[in-house]
Amino acid sequence: MKSVPIAKKTNTPSGMRQLPAIETLLESTFLSSAIARYSRPLVTEAARHTLAALRHDIRRNQPIPTLSMDFIAQMIIQHLSEEWAGFAQPVINATGIILHTNLGRAPLSDPALKALNAIGGRYLSLESNLSEGTRGVRTLELRRLLSVACHAEDALAVNNNAAAMLLVLIALAGGKEALISRGELVQIGNGFRIPEILEQSGVILREVGTTNQTSARDYEKCISERTGLIVKVHQSNFVQKGFVSSPSIEELAAIAGKGQLPLVYDMGNGALLDTAHFGLEHEPTVMESLRAGADVVCFSGDKLLGGPQAGIIAGKREFIRLMLNHPLLRVIRLDKLSAIALATTIKSYLDKNAALELPLWQMIRLKKEEIRSRASTIAQQLKTQNIAATIQDGVSLVGGGTLPEQELPTTLICLSPPRAVDKIARRLRLSSPPLVARVEKDAVLIDLRTVFPDQDALLPGIIAAAWAQKD
Ligand SMILES: *Cc1c(COP(=O)(O)O)cnc(C)c1O
Repeated sequence: MKSVPIAKKTNTPSGMRQLPAIETLLESTFLSSAIARYSRPLVTEAARHTLAALRHDIRRNQPIPTLSMDFIAQMIIQHLSEEWAGFAQPVINATGIILHTNLGRAPLSDPALKALNAIGGRYLSLESNLSEGTRGVRTLELRRLLSVACHAEDALAVNNNAAAMLLVLIALAGGKEALISRGELVQIGNGFRIPEILEQSGVILREVGTTNQTSARDYEKCISERTGLIVKVHQSNFVQKGFVSSPSIEELAAIAGKGQLPLVYDMGNGALLDTAHFGLEHEPTVMESLRAGADVVCFSGDKLLGGPQAGIIAGKREFIRLMLNHPLLRVIRLDKLSAIALATTIKSYLDKNAALELPLWQMIRLKKEEIRSRASTIAQQLKTQNIAATIQDGVSLVGGGTLPEQELPTTLICLSPPRAVDKIARRLRLSSPPLVARVEKDAVLIDLRTVFPDQDALLPGIIAAAWAQKD
């Protein structure tokens, strides 16, 4: 709004007559790009809101700025960008948190985007058997890809992992009890508690052991004719330390086998590559969990798999069949676009190209020296705009509730803003495109690990504009 002179004056009710009509505003060139981006009804609503606020000020004789069309249009655009910033345009993630849940978790790979582009806007053989010319089974090929990648007898994909857990419990527990360790009754995300989701299945959760200690014996003691299955939940987003123990998958599998109960493992992440190969701690892989004796595992498509939002269920054929035949599957089925993106992501793993092709692994693989050289270039460009930037060592996070204590060494651009740091951070978030940075004490920190290299060139301009804003 800085181009508009603020003429402080006291208004008389005649100010009311100076307000333009909504139609005049909407027809003006000032709002045409806002209409292109947000649609006419949303801009109309914002215009009503802004005019009402101005009328309110006029009525109260508040000193208000000029009533030029340009100025009012700017107010409307500001209102829109505060309400809706971000959704319809890419956000630059400079937080260094790779799987940032608020920013859409895993970005899709180029092959996945190409496949979406080629198939998404055309008809596809989703439910037709082309060799027979008859109706086919939806996602049969995807199931095959998933089972081969997971080393599982069979697999299927649904809308997300929470839905996958629900289907597993409803289809396998048969209205009986599910045994779960007290240490695994946890909250995963904002307001998302594992036990509350599981209870939606109608299955009764039978809590086993204590928060920090649960033994194989504790499970055995709880098995009765009412028990339907044993469920293990991966502690994805926190680490328990000290006097802590719980049985391994192998031990649980032995107990489940004795009681002829299915052992279900909610892995959360579901890595198909060993994180230890990338200098991270080892996170259980899908293959090793199945090998260790889990009958069914489920995990997210957009965490350490690096694909679209989805919930993947893999394991023994007899159990997967029960889920395929369950009516709930129709309610939580994966949509066709996610199915295309997931199949392409899985193909990257089968072709042994995942570490190269998927943005998740590309970002994990980035060395702090590569990040440093990009950071120095940006710091140089900022210097020419008289913005001081220093380069310092720091850490990035995998995020998404994965490997909570695991830090990746990185290089940060450290900026000391001219005004309150949270105001500057907000300015950056409301830029176009929005830039989400880290705020620490009085500094704005930029971690280029999660910035796509083709976005680097945008940063100096966005930062300089935020620095120049006066508010
Ligand atoms: C993330 C997570 C979920 C939820 O997965 P969504 O794909 O977000 O539905 C469930 N269980 C565990 C252990 C998780 O980490």
